[in-house]
Parts: sequence; structure tokens; C-alpha cells
Amino acid sequence: MRVLVVEDEHKIAAFVKRGLEENTYAVDVAYDGEDGYEWAHNFPYDFIILDVMLPKLDGIALCQRLRAAGNQAHILMLTAKDDVEDRVAGLDAGADDYLVKPFAFRELLARLRALARRGSEQRTTQLTVGDLTLDLVAHTAQRQNLSIDLTAKEYALLEMLMRHPNQILSRTVIAEHVWDYDFYSQSNIVDVYVRYLRKKIDEPFDEKLIQTVRGMGYRLAEAKRG
Ligand code: CA
Repeated sequence: MRVLVVEDEHKIAAFVKRGLEENTYAVDVAYDGEDGYEWAHNFPYDFIILDVMLPKLDGIALCQRLRAAGNQAHILMLTAKDDVEDRVAGLDAGADDYLVKPFAFRELLARLRALARRGSEQRTTQLTVGDLTLDLVAHTAQRQNLSIDLTAKEYALLEMLMRHPNQILSRTVIAEHVWDYDFYSQSNIVDVYVRYLRKKIDEPFDEKLIQTVRGMGYRLAEAKRG
């Protein structure tokens, strides 16, 4: 899942980016409201984390502008302690949730997971396709009750595929949600990581779950028996 962090305090932005990356997210950072709008407008983020106090365009105005432009990302506002006005204004501007600074990183992660569950049929913290299970809290995968060790990027790629079972995902769509701007334009990065993932989740098992759809992309689907 890909996140845009809009925060002018470089230290906090770097801390959030690093922490999210350690938890398998792909992260881009913008340092003012106008820049934030450009990034959010140009890339399909799953989440946008917006500080309220921003140069050029504050977080609430930015949130309003994004929603007016039809942006569908889950938006989480970072607000100052005890500022009820900001929290109310943020939610009314179209934010999905808020977090009061300073916050515990574990709470940020839990809120992102909760937002991801909204509007999806999935209300648990696990994804399951066939005999493959992904634990969204522990970041672990299991197939036929065997644990599978995944790197952060392998996990992020598998999560993307498992959130869209039976659907063909193009390489571009996959890359845009799994890698940040610095990486995703590397032309064959998706193919390389699908190969890594297949070695772990498909090769040891009879039924293959990751399918290549020629000329279109990849699909994760329960193998047909027979
Ligand atoms: Ca700020």
C-alpha cells in the first residue's frame, strides 16, 4: 500500500516515512500543501497522512481540495493536542480519521489498518486466498500451515495481489501501489519481485496461485482443481 505523507517538519516526515517503510508501505513525502496536492493528484495513493499546520495550503484546505477533485484515498489528519476545532474541521473537510500529535507509531499503524478495512468486505486482520493466508498485523504469510518468510517488498506485493483476488492487475497498477516514486519506474521491478514471490509461495506447492496473464499483468487466484 502506498502512502503520501504531507508534513513540513522534516524530522517528523523522515520518522514517519522510515517507520512506514519498515512496515511494508511505500512512502512519498511532500513538505507543503501545494506540493502535497500535486503528488496526491498525480499518483494513486492508498493513504494520505496530512499535517494540519502546513505552509502554502493548510491540511484542512488541502483535504477539501482533494475531495472536491474526487480524490478517494483514505485521509488521516495529524492534529495538535486538544485542538477540537481542527479535528472537527478536518473530518468535515473529508478526512476519514485523525491522530493527535505526538502519537505512538503503533497507533498510526493500527489506524491505517482500520481505514483499509473500511468500505471493503474484509473486516478481519487476515487475507485468505485458497490455502494461503496473510496476517496483516504480524506481516506473516502461511500456506498449508507452513510459515513463509517474506521480505518487506515481497509482503507488500503479495498483499496487493491478495486484496484483489481473481482480478488481473497490470504491472503499472502493481508498481504504483507497492513502490514509491524513486523505485517504481524501474521497468522490470514487478516481474523480478513476482519471480521472488513465486519461489516462496508457489514453487514448493502443487497448486500455483500466481498466474501470468500475457500482455496484461498478473492475477492471484485459487487454482482450479481437476
Ligand atoms: Ca506542520
